[in-house]
Amino acid sequence: MKKTIRLTELKAVVKQAYEQVKNLKGGKNADYIPFLAKINPDLFGLAVCLPDGEIVAEGDTEYVFGIESISKVHTAILILQQYGAEAVLQKIGADATGLPFNSILAILMENDHPSTPLVNAGAISADSLVRPIGDSNAKWNVIADNMADLCGSELTLLDELYKSESETNFNNRSIAWLLKNYNRIYDDPMMALDLYTRQCSMGVTTKQLAIAACTIANRGKNPVSGKQVFTASLMPNIVSLMASVGFYEHTGDWVYSSGIPAKTGVGGGVMGVLPGVFGIAAFAPPLDEAGNSVKAQAAIQFVTRELGVNVFDGVNVEIVK
Ligand code: GLN
Repeated sequence: MKKTIRLTELKAVVKQAYEQVKNLKGGKNADYIPFLAKINPDLFGLAVCLPDGEIVAEGDTEYVFGIESISKVHTAILILQQYGAEAVLQKIGADATGLPFNSILAILMENDHPSTPLVNAGAISADSLVRPIGDSNAKWNVIADNMADLCGSELTLLDELYKSESETNFNNRSIAWLLKNYNRIYDDPMMALDLYTRQCSMGVTTKQLAIAACTIANRGKNPVSGKQVFTASLMPNIVSLMASVGFYEHTGDWVYSSGIPAKTGVGGGVMGVLPGVFGIAAFAPPLDEAGNSVKAQAAIQFVTRELGVNVFDGVNVEIVK
C-alpha cells in the first residue's frame, strides 16, 4: 500500500524533532583533530530535502562545518561514475568492517582489500583512483566539482581544519602506506592522502548535505539545480554502501533502529537517504564513542519513526502538498 505524508505533517515532525532533541545532553566534540574540539557544541540543525527541491529546515542549517567522513560518499560516487560498480567492488570492496573508521586492523584482517570506500582506508584508495591519475590539482578540481554538483552549490575549504588535520593525521599516513604495500593505492600514496584530508576539510551546511542526500535519493538528479550528477542505476550501490558501513561499528544498531541508510562524519554531520522519497541531514558536534553525532542520530531517528518510514519496510511513500 502506498503511504501518503502531507508536507504540513513533515514540517510539524521536523519541528518536533528539533525541539525534542535540542537540549539532549551527551557526547563530546571530536578532539583528535584540534580544530573540531573548538566548535560550539550547542550548534544544532536538521533539514529534509524533497525531490522537488523543497527544503524543510530547523535550527543552524546555514552554519558551515567540516564535512569529514560524509565526503567519502561523494568520492565513492565519483569513482563509481568513473569506473563502474564492478570495478569499485574489485579494487576497493563493498564490505562492512565492523571496526572503527580509522582501523588498521581491518586492513590487516582483509589482507588486501580496503573493504569499502566509506572507511578511511577505502576512501584514501578511492582518492587514488580519481581520474586523471598523476595530477593532484586536476584530481582535486574533479573531487571538489563533484561535491558541489551533489550539494547544489560550491563548498569552501576550511583552511584551518585542513591544516589542523594535515598536522595530526599520522594514523592515516600509516593506512596509506600499508595500502600501498598491498597494491591498493592506484596513484601516489601521499597525494591520495592529501586529497582525502582536503575533501574531509571542506565546509558544508546542513542544507547542502540534505540536498546531496536528496540527489542520491533522486537517482542522481540534483533536486535544486536539476543536474543529473551520476548515472541513475548507481543509486542502489551508493545506498547499500551507506547502509552497510555508514556508522562504522555501530552501523547495524543504526539501521535496525532508524530504518534509514546514512553516513556520519566526525564534524558532527549525518546525511540519510530514503530512496525515491527524501534526503535528510542533521548536524551537532558532540559525538558518541564511535564518532557519530548524538543529536543528529536522535533527530533523524525521531523523524523516521514519527513518519513511519523505513527502508526495510518498503519505501512506497509519497509526500503530497
Ligand atoms: N578526516 C577524518 C579522519 O580521517 C574523518 C573521520 C570521520 O569523519 N569519521 O580521521
